[in-house]
Amino acid sequence: AYENAPSSSEIHDKLLGGLLSAEFDDSSCVSRYRLAAYRRASPYKPSPELVKSLRRFETLHRRCGPHTAAYSKSVPQLESHSGSHAECKYLIWGPANGLGNMMISLASAFLYALLSERVLLIDRSRDLHALFCEPFPGSSWLLPPDFPLRPSSIFNDSDGRRLGRILRKKKSTATGLVYAHLSHDYDDYDKRFFCESSQSFLREIPWVALRSDQYFSPALFLNPAYERRLSKVFPRKDTVFHHLGRYLFHPADAAWEVITGYYHDNLARATVKLGVQIRTHFKGSIPVELVTRQILNCTWTENLLPKIPSPEGRPSSIAVIVTSLYSVFLGALEDIYSGRAASTGVNVSFHQPSHEEQQQTGSEAHDVKALAEIYLLSTADALVTSAWSTFGYVANSLAGKTPWILISPRRLPACTRGASMEPCFHFPPNYDCAVGGFLETTTVLPYTTNCRDRISGLQMV
Ligand code: GDP
Repeated sequence: AYENAPSSSEIHDKLLGGLLSAEFDDSSCVSRYRLAAYRRASPYKPSPELVKSLRRFETLHRRCGPHTAAYSKSVPQLESHSGSHAECKYLIWGPANGLGNMMISLASAFLYALLSERVLLIDRSRDLHALFCEPFPGSSWLLPPDFPLRPSSIFNDSDGRRLGRILRKKKSTATGLVYAHLSHDYDDYDKRFFCESSQSFLREIPWVALRSDQYFSPALFLNPAYERRLSKVFPRKDTVFHHLGRYLFHPADAAWEVITGYYHDNLARATVKLGVQIRTHFKGSIPVELVTRQILNCTWTENLLPKIPSPEGRPSSIAVIVTSLYSVFLGALEDIYSGRAASTGVNVSFHQPSHEEQQQTGSEAHDVKALAEIYLLSTADALVTSAWSTFGYVANSLAGKTPWILISPRRLPACTRGASMEPCFHFPPNYDCAVGGFLETTTVLPYTTNCRDRISGLQMV
């Protein structure tokens, strides 16, 4: 079950095959060039076209980013855009939902910014600036505090500048900003964002605001013009988040300290690491026994943990990184394995960095723990994750591993292999841009499929 066991003699490529710019000052963000040493080298190399696009994007960001002359010229266009060609165009991304949701949405927004040659700026109403380092050298991705519009007016669902409303009314007044609402509750008009007719309309708009909690990258491939470009940038479609996530997200120093401290104390010495991410959504009390049995059925059937004396070739020690909001599973798993080491010949240990008991998205201390755990999971050699969880998607995609997904504790098989390491787009647009009406988007492109944990979801493979 553990493919390509890690080797301690691996040489760490700190720039990830050219994915990362070498221009940063090493001390500006400790994790940026050190993360590579904590993970197995990725077998997936970024394409030369992706590397070129990233360097081009960085140049654009430096030329048009906050506090440049070009930026100062663009701000007045927010209110009174004359339709003339703007020197620089911008994409303001707004966060929604938990950390996993934010990361998959932000990576998708970044992909859209790359394609549409827009400078990506992120709204500061959440604590992302405290969680992540700046990704673009010589510039900042944070919307400046003196930006003239407040988030409540940029991302206003009932505003006339919402793309879905403009399309519904079939007329737009001259505007310098259009808001694309792409969250899970978007309507049929919002979904037309992905159609070429909407994209050609947006090309003339200097400021686009976008809010989403979804991994909408796969839908960008549905647009033929973008698809041509994307196929060169991503010859392997199952590596989109793997590369974009490793490029964009670098835990800030506070989270990095938690990650490395925990890693060295608990995980570093094990032969292999298994990540088990438990996200439960039960009403009332949690069926601990049932879920524990599900985890064991899965890990035993898939040979991720030993049940009986090990055949030759098994790792001699397995550190299991358990993440959950609750503490109850850890004890249950430990009980089963206490005393089993001798009988299986494998030393299995369980490690859970935190148990917050409830979700507190927005509280910085809580979010730092969540981020640290996503990154600890991403150092694993194999991952078992929970259905529908974007927290798990991010971890397995950063790790470069296709997970085993725990679907339901009441059904067999206990888990099923994911379709790929890509996150699932839970609410794909399913709109036929050519003739209108419903279109099953999972059937359109050869490299997409339904998600194993959500039949109506769209996933690249
Ligand atoms: P999703 O709801 O599973 O798709 O994932 P999100 O990350 O979007 O939202 C869940 C949030 O709950 C996380 O961001 C954390 O704040 C919290 N959370 C859920 N599971 C865990 C966990 O295992 N560890 C920690 N520290 N926090 C968690």
